[in-house]
Amino acid sequence: MNAFDYIRPQSLEEAGRYLTSHAHVKLLGGGNTLLLNIKKGLEAPEIVLDVKHLPGLSDVRYHHNQGLKLGAAVKLQHLAAGLEIRRHYPLLHQTAQKLASPQVRNRATIGGTLAWASSVSELAAPMLCYDAVCYVWSPRGKRTIPLSEFYVGDGRTALARDEIITHVHLPAFPTRTYGVYQRQTVRHDGRRMIAAVAVLAIRKQQALTHWRIAVLGVDDRPKRIPEAEELLQGAPSFEEVEQALALVQERIHPQDVEYARADYRRVVLQSLLRHGIMEVIQHLQGSRS
Ligand SMILES: Cc1cc2nc3c(=O)[nH]c(=O)nc-3n(C[C@H](O)[C@H](O)[C@H](O)COP(=O)(O)OP(=O)(O)OC[C@H]3O[C@@H](n4cnc5c(N)ncnc54)[C@H](O)[C@@H]3O)c2cc1C
Repeated sequence: MNAFDYIRPQSLEEAGRYLTSHAHVKLLGGGNTLLLNIKKGLEAPEIVLDVKHLPGLSDVRYHHNQGLKLGAAVKLQHLAAGLEIRRHYPLLHQTAQKLASPQVRNRATIGGTLAWASSVSELAAPMLCYDAVCYVWSPRGKRTIPLSEFYVGDGRTALARDEIITHVHLPAFPTRTYGVYQRQTVRHDGRRMIAAVAVLAIRKQQALTHWRIAVLGVDDRPKRIPEAEELLQGAPSFEEVEQALALVQERIHPQDVEYARADYRRVVLQSLLRHGIMEVIQHLQGSRS
């Protein structure tokens, strides 16, 4: 393992100075991925900037009109246990409870998990369904990146080298919103993902609108399938659900891995998605208007 300087900046500006003046700087969140990569020699930064303690990065704020602001240093365990998350963003809560172990969740940060950007990153699924937007700071200024544009490949994001995620924003959702997260994993040198899906919709009078489908493990990045979501708008018939399922199959590109062949991952995804869509329809159509 290469030696590196550990630095805990007191402000974004101080962090920015290191990012500008050194070529090999890595940001540290919970360290679950970064420290492992450094130990394995996959990364060799000269400086590790611990951004967990920067002012404001641990804030959590919910407002019934404005939605939810989650600082980048907020731990995943808060998503699994926080009352405002459970009440207003149950799909996020449900997914976080399944993600890793309490030990990992107690260290892992939202910023680090998003920037890790694995094609099987489970946090991405509910975040994509809730239309999350990343707020990013760099010495050059601030910008926002919708999560649907954030992932550009396995382990790759739209972040520039000097950009720091400061927080994530989720808009407010009405109470008649329902979402489901489904996944299949296998024990193989630890627990490995075969495929996963999150499905969400909103009931407006008799119609089911704002459909969201986010898939994991079946492409080079976590992604939504907007064309299939479109097919479900309204009160989808059995045929429309089948058409949406077929369209999703056209839009994914699963790879063979040691523990699951690509065609098996397709079948698994199809089954999880069908179950997810049917559960959303049954729940929302069964609920009182
Ligand atoms: C034992 C174990 C089990 C796991 N099981 C699961 C599982 O079941 N499901 C699942 O989805 N994942 C799982 N993971 C992966 C885990 O979710 C990620 O490793 C973790 O969430 C990464 O977050 P972190 O804060 O630790 O990131 P770090 O390791 O600190 O950083 C990851 C990357 O993000 C960058 N970064 C950190 N903070 C910021 C920031 N604010 N802005 C920009 N870039 C930043 C770092 O430079 C680095 O490149 C598991 C990991 C372990 C070790």
